[in-house]
Amino acid sequence: MAGTLTFTMIKPDAVSKNAIGAIIKMINEAGFVIKAMKYTRLSESQAQQFYAIHKGKPFFEGLVNFMTSGPIVAIALEKENAVADFRKLIGATNPEVANEGTVRKLYATNVQQNAVHGSDSDENANLETNFFFSEVEKF
Ligand code: UDP
Ligand code: MG
Repeated sequence: MAGTLTFTMIKPDAVSKNAIGAIIKMINEAGFVIKAMKYTRLSESQAQQFYAIHKGKPFFEGLVNFMTSGPIVAIALEKENAVADFRKLIGATNPEVANEGTVRKLYATNVQQNAVHGSDSDENANLETNFFFSEVEKF
C-alpha cells in the first residue's frame, strides 16, 4: 500500500519570486496537510548530503550551488498516496515538458531552478523528512 507521507522543498528560485504562498495554496487545495514546515537555508554540506544520489552527475555542482543560493521552505506533507499524487501536482523535472497547471509549469524557471522538490518514494519521503525535522517537530 502506498504511504501517506511526502516531503517537499520550495526552492530558492520560487522563494525569491515571492511564490511561497501561492505554492502552499496549491498544495493545500490538492488535499495535502502540512505536518511540519521550516524556512531555512541549506549549507553546502547539507545540500551535498540531501542530493548525494546525484553525486557525479554533470548537474550536481550547479544543483548544490543553486540550492544554497538562498532560503528554502522544507515541508512534510500528508495525504493518501502522497508521493505519487505530489509528483503529479508538481509536474516533470523540466518545466518545458511539465503539464499545464502543475507547480513547475507555473513557477519553475528551467530544469535546474524548478521551484520545488518532491520525494520519489516512500522510503525517501521518510529519509528526507527526518533530514529536516526531529521527532518532536513532526505533528
Ligand atoms: N536537475 C538539474 N539538471 C538536470 C536534472 C535535474 O539541474 O538535468 C536538478 C533539478 O533541480 C532537479 C534536481 O536536480 O529537481 C534533482 O533531479 P531529479 O532527477 O531527482 O528530479 P526531480 O526528482 O526533482 O524531478
Ligand atoms: Mg528526484
